[in-house]
Amino acid sequence: MSEDRSLDDFAPDAGTEAGADGSEAAVDDGSNAAVDGDVDRVDPASPTSTWHADGADCDRCGERVERCWRDGDALVCADCAPW
Ligand SMILES: [Zn+2]
Repeated sequence: MSEDRSLDDFAPDAGTEAGADGSEAAVDDGSNAAVDGDVDRVDPASPTSTWHADGADCDRCGERVERCWRDGDALVCADCAPW
């Protein structure tokens, strides 16, 4: 008789395990969203840079560089960029 009772106690446990699996998937989605948020935060902080295959003259020192940074209306080299 007591054996039948323990079987009944087992059944509800199986149902709880299925529910735990569902919540685990939801946690994975949350961590992905957090990573996207970090990328958005970095973009405004970094100055806008432009690549010139033929090279471009720095508006500050006149040096010819392949990569320029935008400082207001001017395009400047890495040495003159506002860090
Ligand atoms: Zn320069």
